[in-house]
This record gives sequence, structure tokens and C-alpha cells, in this order.
Amino acid sequence: MKKRLSALLLTLAFLMVVLLTSCGEAAGGNDQVTPPDITTPSLNHENEIDEPPPPVQLDPPRPPEPEPPNPPEPPNPPPPDPTQRRIAITFDDGPSVWTSRILDRVENRDDVRLTFYVIGNRLHNQTNRDILLRAYTMGHEIGNHSYSHRNFSLASTTNAILRNELDQTSNLIYEITGTRPATMRPPFGAFNRNRNYGYPVIIWNMDPQDWRNTATVDQIYQYIVDRATNGSILLLHDIYERTYLAFSRALDTLTERGFEFVTVSELLGLTPGSHWGYYFRSTTHRRYVIAPVFDNQD
Ligand SMILES: [Zn+2]
Repeated sequence: MKKRLSALLLTLAFLMVVLLTSCGEAAGGNDQVTPPDITTPSLNHENEIDEPPPPVQLDPPRPPEPEPPNPPEPPNPPPPDPTQRRIAITFDDGPSVWTSRILDRVENRDDVRLTFYVIGNRLHNQTNRDILLRAYTMGHEIGNHSYSHRNFSLASTTNAILRNELDQTSNLIYEITGTRPATMRPPFGAFNRNRNYGYPVIIWNMDPQDWRNTATVDQIYQYIVDRATNGSILLLHDIYERTYLAFSRALDTLTERGFEFVTVSELLGLTPGSHWGYYFRSTTHRRYVIAPVFDNQD
């Protein structure tokens, strides 16, 4: 019995030696592989494809949670004709008595088309409704500026609230003019790029801050005439006398310089009801001017 055991152990030991030796040969064999000919580098790129996958790392460090992807950016609209001087002057937060004065000012100017971003809760008042209808009939664009001037970028502004804010105003505008607004301007210019507002979101690239109590007519006027460039969208508020006065002066100066006064939709080539999805990133200004309408409504 003992003899058979020791014979078995001997056989096992022998097998192990053979195994170890053959491993050593295989390892040594690699050393003898002819080194690649470095004077004639291989141009065969198929080798790159056949490379084995990199070794799997155990417990790799966890990367930070990726940011939600931004929606794809469609190409910018074609650049405007450099010989043109077109500007879209927009007024937010009306209508008001100053809207009437602005309309009086451009009454005989068929070449001047403005854009008014109106607040829905101002459209229950008959005087304001008349002003809105007058602006629309004169050929100006009426845009949606929410119902109660709510901040659209806050998480507390749920989709239901958002839709209500925009729909109520759209319905009121439709009731008065028979046409729904084609564009929207979010109150405070605050919006979230990944959120669907159902309208092209129109911001601006010229902001003379006419809403500040300290703003003077001269300052607002000077800002406008110093910075007006082709393709600009100017933000003003038709609820201040100073804004009306500065606009009135700037209109003459810009007219002398050959500016054309167009609505936002005209400036950007929007057609009513079109499903429009451009980002327009002005090349001469740092701000986004417009966000797209997304396909998905929710
Ligand atoms: Zn506003």
C-alpha cells in the first residue's frame, strides 16, 4: 500500500516538473520572436481593428453622473445679407398707455413693424384690448409673455403651470386678434434649454435696461444708437415714458442710418404655424437669442 502511494506521489511530482518546464518554454519562446522590422512600418491598419480589447479593470473609479444631454443644435440660419440693416424692436410687459403713444409715433410709418410681448392678465381690460387690436391691425407682431409674468426657469413652475400661463395668454390674444402668437418671450428672459415651451423662445442681444428707475432717456437712446447692428433684437418695455421718449428719438437716428424695422418673425424668417427648430447663436453677440421648439410636447 505504501509502495503504491509513493509511486503515485512520484508520478505526480514528475508530471508537475514536465508541466512547469513546458510553461517555461512557452514563456521563453516569446523572447525569441523576431522583433518587428522598424525600418518598414506596417501600413496595414487592419491590425488596429484586430487588437484585443483592453483588459477589464476591476472596480474602476466611478465617473461623475453625466449631465443630461443638450438637445442637438440645428445649423444656424443662413447669415443675413451684409448690405442689409434690419433690426427687430421688441416691447415687453404691455399693453399700456405708452403702447398707444408708440403706435401713434409709427402711425404713418408703414415701413416700421414692431413686436409686442404682452402679459395675459393685462388683456381683460377693454382699453388694453383695444390697444392690442390696434397694434395687430397696424401689422405689428404680438407675442406671448406669459399670463402672470412668472419665472419659467424655476422648478416650481411645473409643466401644467407653464402650459396654463402660455395657453391663457394665447387664447386671449386669439380672442382679440383672431391670430395666435407665433413666438414667446419668457419673463426675465429666464428659461431652461432642455424644456419644451411649445414656441420659439425669443431672447435678445440688446438690453438698455430701461426698466431701471435710474435709467434716463439719454442713456437708453445712446445705448440703442451705439449698439444697433444688422440682425439685432432690442429689448424694451412699453410701460415707461422714458422708454417711449428714447425709442422715439432712436427711431429717427436709425432711420437716417438706413435701418429697416421688422418683426421678430420677419427677422428670423419664421412663418406662422411653422414648426421651427433653429438655435440662433448670434456671431456678433454672446447670448443665445432663440431656443428651438422641441418635437416632444412633454
Ligand atoms: Zn417682462
